[in-house]
Amino acid sequence: MAIIPIRRAGDPVLREKARRVRTIDKSIHKLIDDMWETMYDAPGVGLAAPQIGISLRIVVIDVNNGEKIALVNPEIVKRSGERHVDEGCLSVPGFRGEIVRSVKVLAKGIDPYTGKEVRIKAQDDLLAEALEHEIDHVNGIIYIDYLPSPDALVSVNDAPEVRA
Ligand code: ZN
Repeated sequence: MAIIPIRRAGDPVLREKARRVRTIDKSIHKLIDDMWETMYDAPGVGLAAPQIGISLRIVVIDVNNGEKIALVNPEIVKRSGERHVDEGCLSVPGFRGEIVRSVKVLAKGIDPYTGKEVRIKAQDDLLAEALEHEIDHVNGIIYIDYLPSPDALVSVNDAPEVRA
């Protein structure tokens, strides 16, 4: 495994619509191992492959609820409701901003180890936010796109932050 430098906003790879994974082989498992190691080292609660410069539709999430989630070709199936969240991103270090996310989120993707489709439901929690945040990344979207204005981005200084 290896820790890979995290790409920052402004890097074109973060703006691409990432490619679908056709075959889940050893190279994909190795990439996911590197994503876990990079995410925990940062530390963050989620990471998408484009954030380490790989334009593929793969995300990993661990919001410390005992569930490690890796999804290949993830998609949001359904979302509803609106809530305000204070969000941060490993690709926008040192800042956070308040945006609107969904209350209920249903996501699906392929489990890279079983090859089977899995569905993940979350409601009004960090997991719901992380699913939307990471799946946005594979679509070339960064949370700052949702800010009402550029000065809505606030500096974090030493305050605790949750980043994905
Ligand atoms: Zn992010």
